[in-house]
Amino acid sequence: MEFIKFRNVEKTYKNGVNAVYNMNLDIKKGEFVFVIGASGSGKSTLIKMLYREERPTSGEIYLGGINVAKVKNNKVYKLRRKIGIVFQDFKLLPKLTAYENVAFALEIYGLPASEIKRKVLKALDLVGLKSRTKSYPDQLSGGEQQRVALARAIVNSPKLLICDEPTGNLDPDTSLEVMKVIEKINDLGTTVVMATHDREMVNKMKKRVILLDNGKLAKDYEKGSYKNHEVV
Ligand code: ADP
Repeated sequence: MEFIKFRNVEKTYKNGVNAVYNMNLDIKKGEFVFVIGASGSGKSTLIKMLYREERPTSGEIYLGGINVAKVKNNKVYKLRRKIGIVFQDFKLLPKLTAYENVAFALEIYGLPASEIKRKVLKALDLVGLKSRTKSYPDQLSGGEQQRVALARAIVNSPKLLICDEPTGNLDPDTSLEVMKVIEKINDLGTTVVMATHDREMVNKMKKRVILLDNGKLAKDYEKGSYKNHEVV
């Protein structure tokens, strides 16, 4: 069954820019999908529409049966509970430790402290940072910070993990380390949609690749990789 469905999705921003045209796309539960394309091709717009940061101008987007565009503003938080998101710039709170950054994402649900502790330690263990729970972001390397951000994104067991250029600020070795964690999260059943410029990573991972070109879905490969600047 399709987990994510785009049906004739168009997005025109208020300034008249057509960022996404007539997009049709199906992603199954548990898939790992890279979204690639030149700067300005519509990757971020596609991703933002998935977590209802932007609404399509027309067409429909379904996420696990929910028509995302129709979710009311005061219900967006419910949708976001089902989604984990990581960005290029980590977005950790500098005054909180790794543990607290991850726990922060759970505290709003009013869970008992013991339950929070169990979940936070499990998430930090999954990303390989159980020994760094007391470290502050500025005491961690870029790769470690991104892994804390990943722990925070998955601590509530989301069905979908969205990654917008998660390795954009990291060197190749560290990027690989972070990608391995994302792959592990995917292996445990979470669907992953990742926008990236990182060609080396796309080639290494051999996952589904969707290429956007000027807002259009130009190519969709089961196991895509780059050869001489072309995806094949
Ligand atoms: P990418 O992530 O592939 O770089 P974007 O989705 O950010 O592409 O942008 C697609 C197009 O939409 C670009 O032409 C960009 O300038 C435009 N765009 C993106 N966000 C906005 C916005 N908030 N308002 C107006 N135009 C935007």
